[in-house]
Amino acid sequence: MEGPGTYEDRELTCRDCGMPFAFTAGEQLFYASKGLLNVPQRCPGCRAAAKRARAAGGPRELHAAVCHACGGQAIVPFAPRPDKPVYCSSCFERVRPSAPLPSA
Ligand SMILES: [Zn+2]
Ligand SMILES: [Zn+2]
Repeated sequence: MEGPGTYEDRELTCRDCGMPFAFTAGEQLFYASKGLLNVPQRCPGCRAAAKRARAAGGPRELHAAVCHACGGQAIVPFAPRPDKPVYCSSCFERVRPSAPLPSA
């Protein structure tokens, strides 16, 4: 176990681009002051890119698929699976099960 005040620059490997990057003593101190026990997984460049992706609505990928009902193009936020029908947004409104009706 390391005591306080023993921070040294460390070299970590970015999990995104695989490049080595420095986890400096100052950053380690900052992490420790925040109570963060995990070391950063990404280099500063990839961290900024990931942050931008999150700000832009998340790392969610959109996939194009063929609508099961009308045969039109459906854009879905998940990878389409062959055993699950995919619907375009307008068909999804019609086919989704047990849609609550506004009238009681
Ligand atoms: Zn990187
Ligand atoms: Zn459709």
